Amino acid sequence: MYQELLSTCEKYNATLIAVSKTKPVEAIQSIYDLGQRDFGENRVQELREKYNQLPKDIRWHIIGHLQKNKVKYIAPYVYMIHSVDSSDLLATINKAAAKHERIINVLLQVKIAQEDTKYGLSQDDALSILAQYVDGAYPNVAIKGLMGMATFTHDESAVQGEFASLASLRDQWSDQHSIELPDLSMGMSGDYQIALDAGSTMIRVGSLIFGSRG
Ligand SMILES: *Cc1c(COP(=O)(O)O)cnc(C)c1O
Repeated sequence: MYQELLSTCEKYNATLIAVSKTKPVEAIQSIYDLGQRDFGENRVQELREKYNQLPKDIRWHIIGHLQKNKVKYIAPYVYMIHSVDSSDLLATINKAAAKHERIINVLLQVKIAQEDTKYGLSQDDALSILAQYVDGAYPNVAIKGLMGMATFTHDESAVQGEFASLASLRDQWSDQHSIELPDLSMGMSGDYQIALDAGSTMIRVGSLIFGSRG
């Protein structure tokens, strides 16, 4: 399945992020040995343990809700944080990145699902963060685009509509602020094909690569 996903991503010019949360370092190493370098985790403590044991050229992506008081632990090496869901969190990331004299890549997580979801920015809040960013409020972060999660449903047209709305927000906002927002992180094991067709540049796939969790 890994090779199949990889060639699908190549066809769409998208990045495959192997979501390795809850999986042991041996499982990650075996996918690494196939050439995979982008891995996604959602817990800081788990990432810290894995980071210490695994090759240092892995690009680690944080894909789940991140608490401000944990940012300092990953700031030295995290490659991209997909789940920026408040201006406070972004300010904390900016400060930690400055301390380590680096620029951390981030995505703004925007609520697109019809269902009630806990995390994610409203469109208004995302827009005001972009305005602050363009004004220079966060010099040590690079906002690369948007991340979104679709409603958990078998209704493919609903999922398609939600992904399409994120893609159009990206187009609208990058025009409005004259900034490049090249990345759209959307699509998981169950809906990555719909996401790629809607313009995803990064799919976050766990169970299809590593098997189901727990
Ligand atoms: C766990 C997780 C994934 C991967 O889910 P799968 O269904 O196993 O592919 C993707 N994105 C986020 C934010 C996750 O928490």
